[in-house]
Amino acid sequence: MERKEFRELTSVEDARELVDNIKVQPQVTVLPIEEAAGHIIAEDILSGLDVPAFNRSVKDGYAVRAKDTYQASEPAPTELKVIGAIPAGCEDSFFVDDGEAVEISTGAPIPEGVDAVVMVESTKQSGDSLFVYLPVHINENIMRAGTDIMKGERILRKNTRIGSREIGVMASIGMDKVPVKKLAVGIISTGSELIRPGEKLGISKIYDANSYAIAAAIEECGGTPRIYGIVRDEEKLMEEALDRAISECDIVLTSGSTSAGAGDIMYMIIERKGETLTHGIAIKPGKPVVIGMINNVPTIGLPGNPTSALSIFNEFVAPIIYNSLGVKPSFKTKITAVMGTGIRSGGREELFPVGVVRGKVYPADKTSGAITTLSDADGIFEIRPHTEYIEPGEEVEVTMFGNVRSPDLMLVGGQCPGIDLLEEMTGLTFRTLNMGSSAGFTAMSGGIADIACVNMVDVDGNYNSSVLKRMNLDNVVLVKGYRREQGLIFTPDNHIYGLEDIINLQIINRNRGSGTRALLDREMGLLAEGKGISKSEMIKSLKGYNSGSKTHRSVCDAVKSGKVDVGFGLRAAAEEAGLEFIPLAEDEFDFVIRKDLLEIEEIQNFLAVLRSEEFSKKLPEGISTYEMTGSIISSF
Ligand code: AMP
Ligand code: MG
Repeated sequence: MERKEFRELTSVEDARELVDNIKVQPQVTVLPIEEAAGHIIAEDILSGLDVPAFNRSVKDGYAVRAKDTYQASEPAPTELKVIGAIPAGCEDSFFVDDGEAVEISTGAPIPEGVDAVVMVESTKQSGDSLFVYLPVHINENIMRAGTDIMKGERILRKNTRIGSREIGVMASIGMDKVPVKKLAVGIISTGSELIRPGEKLGISKIYDANSYAIAAAIEECGGTPRIYGIVRDEEKLMEEALDRAISECDIVLTSGSTSAGAGDIMYMIIERKGETLTHGIAIKPGKPVVIGMINNVPTIGLPGNPTSALSIFNEFVAPIIYNSLGVKPSFKTKITAVMGTGIRSGGREELFPVGVVRGKVYPADKTSGAITTLSDADGIFEIRPHTEYIEPGEEVEVTMFGNVRSPDLMLVGGQCPGIDLLEEMTGLTFRTLNMGSSAGFTAMSGGIADIACVNMVDVDGNYNSSVLKRMNLDNVVLVKGYRREQGLIFTPDNHIYGLEDIINLQIINRNRGSGTRALLDREMGLLAEGKGISKSEMIKSLKGYNSGSKTHRSVCDAVKSGKVDVGFGLRAAAEEAGLEFIPLAEDEFDFVIRKDLLEIEEIQNFLAVLRSEEFSKKLPEGISTYEMTGSIISSF
């Protein structure tokens, strides 16, 4: 098989122009009003009736002839005779004469003979006598037929996206069926490694994220997704799926198999069945994209990587859906923000996922290939071609994802249930990147984090200050947090009484850079010293030492499932998981905070909660505050 190489990439500008010219004709279908939200109205909606259909009262009170009240005043009320009552929905007819009144409810029809409604608050009734204390003018508190919507009036424009307001307006003119545009967009996920969510994950398999993420994205644009499911990397199967989708849909999207790897054959199939308009766009993430046309059906091969697939969808597929439906994209909010850190670019046009915290932009591009890149991001920042570096402090424009609430504080570092409690009690939204203490220090020096959450012990048993000194961090303070019991975590059928007992067992370790891992290293070092052997020799005897679980909870999961015999971590996590725990050490979990943020409301709130008695009480078993909690012990 000939391998495709990306020698000539289409520029982003050319690719945009290309998709701007692709348009398909959607179908029109009629939906029950209950199901119409989110769709696009296919034709102008004219009202077939007046709303309201009759003159109605807008207040609870009494229907009267206005002129009868002109003399009324507080000291000298006018007396009228009450001849009946009209509740809402009343079908009885009344005629009201001079000197008479009828009790009337909000929304009830105005009877014959009257021209105003006096509010109940301006009256007093005694038997069938009504005393009116305030004059009303003609038409006061009456809504005339058709004042809301007039018969024949256009109430909604074609191509409007249907939301709660539109549904309300259509229901109020009695519509129960709504003509909407229907653009069927098929999705085929390719890859022999894919498994449907909900099914058991086999060896070297991953769950199919794209079918669902892309379906949701299609819906957000007003299209109708059709999921064709997973197709293994076999030419014949792919072709069959494509044929079916093309015969049933207006636009077809595939994911995976677009790059130049062995087995990546989607572009060849598209090429053979129709016409390839472009293969490869000069953009990152997601260069390997194919845009083609098969039997007049736009067919787009998205990259397999979920983050790339979604970015490419937003950039080059959403416009086709919008063009075809005749709507303008409604959810792209652009904001101007300031780079919180520098970003280096490869000189290509790049769509860079970024987080935006209090107006500062930082890269959210942890590693490409992770769907969490997008869920940790608040928007996309477009790096122009030939840009090598964007300075911190530079003003940039960020296209925000729909419906995201920007976080209030950015925390990077070790993971701890205490942080979840702090988030809950401050009422703030944290973006927490659980990447271990080392990453916390690094993010701090790079200006990305507001707070680094750290529990890094040095050889002398000191927590965190020595690392801060060694890293030459400046403009930060070290705030002491709390103490946490760390120890061995295992199931009751394992007989473990101390660190020595784990030597021939299968263990699960924490990720490199995690403070908890460093603590285990230190404990093993002390044990080795007692035995008169070297630390590295000691560590060699541990099975599974090189594993790297990212959270306390995942350590417990591995122990519970029986995959390993023992783990090392928090008592709080062990107890939550119902596992045995032997304490070995107490660590100190601290917070490094940027000095220039100390006075801002969010940090003040954070510190106040940390120092509060209530926080101390609510901490789970095995985590406790002490006299140093919340104090700033050093400033760098
Ligand atoms: P491909 O473009 O087929 O080479 O895929 C690129 C990467 O994305 C590979 O690591 C795939 O396993 C992954 N991938 C492909 N399709 C999906 C999918 N539907 N959901 C999640 N990951 C996928
Ligand atoms: Mg693949």
